[in-house]
Amino acid sequence: MSLVNKEGAKALKAQVLGDIDVRGFELSGAIYKHFSQLHEIDYYPVKNIEELLLRQKEYEVSQIGVWADVPKGLVRFSPSGASKCERELYYKAIKAPQDIQTMYPFQRRWTRNASAIHEAVQTDLLYAEYLLKDPSFKVARMNNGLPAWEKNLQTCKTLKHNGIEFALLGMMDGVLWYTKDGSKVGFEFKTKSTTIGAVGNFKMKDAQDSHKEQCVAYSILFGMDEFILMYESLAKDNWNKGADAKLDFRTFYLKVTEDDRNALLNKFSKIAKAVKENETPAGDFDKCLFCPYKTVCSKQEEDIA
Ligand code: SF4
Repeated sequence: MSLVNKEGAKALKAQVLGDIDVRGFELSGAIYKHFSQLHEIDYYPVKNIEELLLRQKEYEVSQIGVWADVPKGLVRFSPSGASKCERELYYKAIKAPQDIQTMYPFQRRWTRNASAIHEAVQTDLLYAEYLLKDPSFKVARMNNGLPAWEKNLQTCKTLKHNGIEFALLGMMDGVLWYTKDGSKVGFEFKTKSTTIGAVGNFKMKDAQDSHKEQCVAYSILFGMDEFILMYESLAKDNWNKGADAKLDFRTFYLKVTEDDRNALLNKFSKIAKAVKENETPAGDFDKCLFCPYKTVCSKQEEDIA
């Protein structure tokens, strides 16, 4: 490549990255404003939204005990596993015995609060598109009129990569339409339950890598490139702080590229091949904290030593 071409490539890269930055700033700012504007106003229940939420609930109840249709004999992955240790995904695929997990009551309240806020945020999205004068986002709908989120859009895709077949099964927090240009954007919502500082500018510079990788899996599953990741702290600043209150939620933009998708497909196909060949992949010992296979993994390490 000539120097001129190199310079040209550099300029093009800077321009592309610049475009992503501009777009990211626009979309992450728009969703921040979208929620803030809704939370600035008092409002009462709206009958057609509450009816829609009832239909949503009815559908969720109808799905209790109904298992997704996954092709038999294929290793199955999920978006939340995208960033996990390859060995952990391998153990999951071969149904290795899991450690007994001790959950303390406060931890269950922690996850219960996170789930409740998830639902509240989705309700907010429906109210925002109805109540705001000029909403920046609208929730996409399924063919049956239900919002495009959760179980409503659960999908299982059979994929073939590097000659290996496997399945990817998942759902996501929402598909939104950006009203300004009609583009489709994935919405991923996360909570932080420790301190409000967890979502502050100092501690949170960007979306977490593991959540970005989850979006890459959504991109493969649902065929979209743009995502907004939103983090809300369940802890809030003092009530009397008023306009000086610390930030309690943050929003980030992610543009998924073909390279991102390929890297994840390489990882999944490598694990599916390892399962087929009965070959345990190497462990990533930086990712052990929440892994339920610590016992079987350490035994395997002893056997290797
Ligand atoms: S214990 Fe750690 S290295 Fe072993 S499978 Fe789990 S995450 Fe991977």
